[in-house]
Amino acid sequence: MQDRLELPLFIEREREGTYFTLPFTMPPDVESMTLRYSYDRHLKSERAVDRGTFTARREANIIDLGLVSPAGVQVGASGSDKQEIFISETAATPGYRPCLLEPGRWQIIVGAYKVAPEGVNVTYEITFTFKKMRLLKGDLHTHTVASDGVYTAAELGRRALLHGLDFLAITDHNQMVSRDSLPRIEGLTLIPGIEWTHYRGHANFLGVDQPYDGPFFANTFEEVRERFRSARQRGALIMINHPFEEGCEFQFDLNELPFDCLNIWNGPMRLQNFRAVALWQEMLEEGKKVPICGGSDFHRDMPFLYPGAPTTCVYARSASVEDILEAIKQGHAYIIYAPDGPSLEMTAGEAILGDTVPWPEVKEMEITLDGLQAGDTVQVITARESKTILEAPASGRYRAVYTVPSIIFRKFIYPPGRHQLTSSYF
Ligand SMILES: [Zn+2]
Ligand SMILES: [Zn+2]
Repeated sequence: MQDRLELPLFIEREREGTYFTLPFTMPPDVESMTLRYSYDRHLKSERAVDRGTFTARREANIIDLGLVSPAGVQVGASGSDKQEIFISETAATPGYRPCLLEPGRWQIIVGAYKVAPEGVNVTYEITFTFKKMRLLKGDLHTHTVASDGVYTAAELGRRALLHGLDFLAITDHNQMVSRDSLPRIEGLTLIPGIEWTHYRGHANFLGVDQPYDGPFFANTFEEVRERFRSARQRGALIMINHPFEEGCEFQFDLNELPFDCLNIWNGPMRLQNFRAVALWQEMLEEGKKVPICGGSDFHRDMPFLYPGAPTTCVYARSASVEDILEAIKQGHAYIIYAPDGPSLEMTAGEAILGDTVPWPEVKEMEITLDGLQAGDTVQVITARESKTILEAPASGRYRAVYTVPSIIFRKFIYPPGRHQLTSSYF
């Protein structure tokens, strides 16, 4: 894929005082772009004076810059002030807005404010940086002053950065938040969200400004399902929150609602989280592929509670909201107790954590863990067995291989509306 474009342009004097555009093609999978342009703004002339040579600089050319997306939207304009601009989905040079770099026909706005009589040569140089898989750390469940938290989104964002997070979802109770209203914090992707909060269960709708029309409340199950269906249709990631949290258990029937991931670790590790893990295990053994995630449910500072406790780690193709949420939907995620907890890499051939591979063609999984401490053990739990594959004798990085012996799905039956768990998991 070409990562650099050079577009030369000659502007005649006759075009002085007019605007026109210079098209270019944005290739697919671009994460960020830099656009530079150069021309002789000043013409120099030398004149002999009594004691030597005098060089005069005269402003002969002034060319303005702007950018238009394939949808015809002005992404930004900077007059003749900036010779270089940067744009990605999460950051941009002031005067330009961060936006999705969608493939297609983009246009550079050329403003020929001043052109010398002999015309001017302008060179535009565009550099593309393509998306590639990377590990990002974040928190998918936090509250601000907009509901019962104590920090604003900006304060929360700065704390998330201090804890080493790359992304943070703002999920206030029944409060929608638009992406444009969130603060811009360099190095952090803020994900707009809402914790749809009902007396019978909570769910996060992430990544869209307005997951449903009208107010949050719903009395009948049909109305509840309508909220979920609308959120799904509008592209939100639907996360079932803390299914066993005392006082706000998720009591709706998960077989009857669309959802994308199950929150199996909410706040500090407690019995209710183990129960959520057990529910996930039941679903997997039924043959359902259910992505998981964690969230701190952070409201205010308390022992063991801060943004990133626990941390959801994702293998995403960029730091954009869409790519992070897509990674979670694909199951390319794991959860650790803190941002500086151990890292996990799991591969089976070309496949990574969360992918599906055919068995028995692919049987071997390679597991690499970094940041283990002496005495840590690594267990693989399948429908068939629970096996310790590693015991770390000292702190460090370890690699292990696990061979999947067979696949057996067990059939579990649980009553609708309430997941009763078999005691064998405890
Ligand atoms: Zn909740
Ligand atoms: Zn919450």
